[in-house]
Amino acid sequence: MKLKNIGVLGFQGDFVEHIETTKKALNKLSFEGNIIMVKTKDKLQNLDGLIIPGGESTTLQTLCIKNGLWEDMKRIKYIYGTCAGAILLAKKVLHKTKNQQTLELMDIEIDRNAYGGQISSFEKKIKTKLGNFDAVFIRSPRITKTGKNIVIIAKERNEVLACEQRDKDKYYLVSCFHPELTTTIFHEYFLKKIYSQ
Ligand code: GLN
Repeated sequence: MKLKNIGVLGFQGDFVEHIETTKKALNKLSFEGNIIMVKTKDKLQNLDGLIIPGGESTTLQTLCIKNGLWEDMKRIKYIYGTCAGAILLAKKVLHKTKNQQTLELMDIEIDRNAYGGQISSFEKKIKTKLGNFDAVFIRSPRITKTGKNIVIIAKERNEVLACEQRDKDKYYLVSCFHPELTTTIFHEYFLKKIYSQ
């Protein structure tokens, strides 16, 4: 199996946890890979996949633009966005700030701070197509609409909590919660997509 390069955007948010969880997921799957912390444009070259962590979507946007990564990020073929990362991938954002932009890669509408402020963060057991586990929601966004090319991975009542989109040779995955804090299953799933290219 070919060695792959997995990038984790390393400006802000819980990128360290994503790096650790990606390492564990690679080990569990016995895949060989380089995990690259991405803060400069050159690190985006030759990536087979990119993880955009949670944090704060407008701050992440500002840092990506300022450091010249923004346009090149749109060309990465496999991207997994958690929480703020999911906001960055969405085509439409509700309650965005005045100059907020996204990469507009995924056919979802997302409500930025739908569950309220930091104080409204919570943890709960959820069911997903990949397995059940405790999911951590931190100032979480809510996916309010999905296009017909979106496949749902986790849904509670009427709320989509995780979904994916395959677009020819491009693949995007998002979750509103933070799997990197409690499980490796989402990272394993994303890695399997990358390694089966
Ligand atoms: N709601 C936050 C935002 O607008 C995201 C929170 C998170 O990533 N945990 O970016």
